[in-house]
Amino acid sequence: MTLLSVRGLHAFYGDSHVLHGLDFELARGELVTLIGRNGAGKTTTLRALMGLVQRRGSVLLKDAQTVAWAPERIARLGMAYVPEDRGIFASLTVEENLMLPPVVAAGGLTLAEIYRLFPNLLERRRNPGTRLSGGEQQMLAIARVLRTGADLILLDEPTEGLAPVVVQQIAQAVKLLKARGFTVLLVEQNLAFAELLADRHYLVEDGRIAGCVAAQDLARPGQRERIHRCLGL
Ligand code: ATP
Repeated sequence: MTLLSVRGLHAFYGDSHVLHGLDFELARGELVTLIGRNGAGKTTTLRALMGLVQRRGSVLLKDAQTVAWAPERIARLGMAYVPEDRGIFASLTVEENLMLPPVVAAGGLTLAEIYRLFPNLLERRRNPGTRLSGGEQQMLAIARVLRTGADLILLDEPTEGLAPVVVQQIAQAVKLLKARGFTVLLVEQNLAFAELLADRHYLVEDGRIAGCVAAQDLARPGQRERIHRCLGL
């Protein structure tokens, strides 16, 4: 079943036209990546889906046309955004950060379930946000949206700046989300990480979708090179 269907998505920062008609879709329970080099428009795509930038086109979420909706209304339909800067409140404890986002829909995880998924956060639940490592902050940023009842999670470069061993931990956490039925749209530049998780990769170039590679086709001749070219490697 299609959960999100995007057609002809354009986005703008003032006079600057950044997305030029993206088309892509996600089925319920899929994990799909947006892959592309810096400035290709990946973050802007997530922000456009969430209603945080000026946009036009069609964004059908659970068959509702959301392209003109405010972010709060989109959130209530179950879309959550984990931004690249993670947005952890330094003066609040781990548990206070976890409890901060409002519950927007039924079916969210309880605090106990979240701590079972992320045992590190349980150990550190009384620590302030500032005392967490980069990896723990990333876990907290992901964990925080699971309470809200959102079932579609937009994840922006969760591995940015993290050591390889921590990247593995984040990969495990994202795998668990998929196993629990969450649908994930993941922005990544780290193909080694993305290919551990994804069902499909959309290649983003200059504010457009330049192609799509299914996980099972990655081993076919030329496909990996195609992704490397898109990443500018
Ligand atoms: P990165 O990994 O560097 O974030 P990206 O693929 O996510 O790359 P975007 O951040 O979506 O790319 O940026 C797409 C284009 O929009 C770039 O040309 C960028 O300079 C421009 N842009 C991004 N944010 C703004 C803004 N607030 N105002 C004006 N232009 C912006």
